Formats: sequence, structure tokens, C-alpha cells
Amino acid sequence: MDAATTTTPAVLILLGPPGAGKGTQARMLEDKFGLVQLSTGDLLRDAVAAGTEAGKAAKAVMEAGDLVSDGIVIAILRDRIAEPDCAKGVILDGFPRTTVQAEALDGLLAATDQKVSAAISLEVEDAEMVTRISGRYTCAGCGEGYHDVYKTPAVEGVCDKCGNTEFKRRADDNAETVASRLKAYHAQTAPLIDYYQNHGVLKRVDAMGKINDIAGDLEGIVGEVVS
Ligand code: AMP
Repeated sequence: MDAATTTTPAVLILLGPPGAGKGTQARMLEDKFGLVQLSTGDLLRDAVAAGTEAGKAAKAVMEAGDLVSDGIVIAILRDRIAEPDCAKGVILDGFPRTTVQAEALDGLLAATDQKVSAAISLEVEDAEMVTRISGRYTCAGCGEGYHDVYKTPAVEGVCDKCGNTEFKRRADDNAETVASRLKAYHAQTAPLIDYYQNHGVLKRVDAMGKINDIAGDLEGIVGEVVS
């Protein structure tokens, strides 16, 4: 193939603890750059709702705020990333969360001559996370994210994006489960910051500020990777 006319789809990873804003930022990047957001949390919640074998195995683990087994998550991600829409490039939100998953991802990508374009670490303080998580909710129609304090709909009770009036909160967005999720993040996921640093693809973003300021920083990084 002619290298001058070939574009390699970007593979971006958003790293960060629960509540860092990975989902919100992934959706904004998806809209801006035409990439596909792949959230293993969403895929697992769909599997739980559909009552699949993977969903049945994952349900109690997710409710406890622990990590679902690498085997289940890698299989779900592998099937989804092979779908044709992902050829546009992907933003991984919530995957990988362990070194085993990171190595499996490298293997999957290598099979199609791809590699991770950038792993962006959203850096936040733990104390902020509980407030962020306990106030968040989404539109039941289109999935747009909102927050009781930081991002309310322009018209109360009506989704800005699709006009729906039904909203939902996640079962695991409560104080006890958040503590377990933060513990799992520090023990199993934070080591991936070094992993991607060593692979030369780590970017760090201060994610304590306003959603739109953080989005601006991310757009700068992603703009350099997506051509
Ligand atoms: P999230 O929506 O990314 O916050 O994920 C919600 C829950 O799904 C997590 O607390 C885990 O129980 C599970 N989960 C999501 N992604 C993964 C992953 N990559 N590895 C293990 N468990 C995951």
C-alpha cells in the first residue's frame, strides 16, 4: 500500500480513577474526531441487562466495586473492537485496567499492525471523586452525562441533547462502592501509568478543572495523533 495515502486508525486510551471524567471526555472526543468510544463498563452493564453468561458472572463483582475477571473483559473488548465501525479509530474508556489487559490489548493490536497511539492519564485527587460520582446521572434515552452540581440540563428535567425526560443513576455510584472502586484503581490500574510511560505513549492531563478546559487539553493531544 502507498504509505502517503494510508491512515492508521488511532487507538487512544483514557486512564484515570472512577469519576475522573473518562466517559464524559470520551463522548466529547467521539463527537469531535469521529472516533468510537469503547467503554468496557457500558459493555458489561449491557451484558448484565441482557442476562448473558458474562453478565451473570460480572453482576455481583460490579456491585461490590471490584474488577471483573480479565478473561471476561478481554473477550468482550476483543469482540467489540473487531466490529467494522472501530476501523475509524477508538477511544478506550475503562480498558485496560490491569497489566494483563494492557498486554492483551497490545497483542490484539499487533495482529492487525496497530499499536496504542496515546494513553492519556486524567489526573485527579481522590477526595474530589466521591463528590463527582455521587452527583452524576445520565439521560436514559441517549446516555448524555449530567451532574447535580457541575452539569445540569439547560431546562430542568429535560435532556439537552435528545429532549428525553427520563434519567438514571448507576447502581455502583454510591459511597461504599466508590471506596472499593478507588482501591481497585490504585492497586491494579494505576501501575498502567508506568506501563505506558515505558512504552513512550503516556500523556498526562490535569483533570481537576472545568469539563470544557479539560476537553480543550485533550483535543490538543488527540489532534496530534488523529490525522
Ligand atoms: P466503569 O463504567 O468503567 O466505571 O466500570 C464499572 C465497573 O465495571 C467497574 O467497577 C468494574 O467492576 C467493571 N469493569 C469495567 N471495565 C473493566 C475492566 N477493564 N476490567 C475489569 N472490570 C471492569
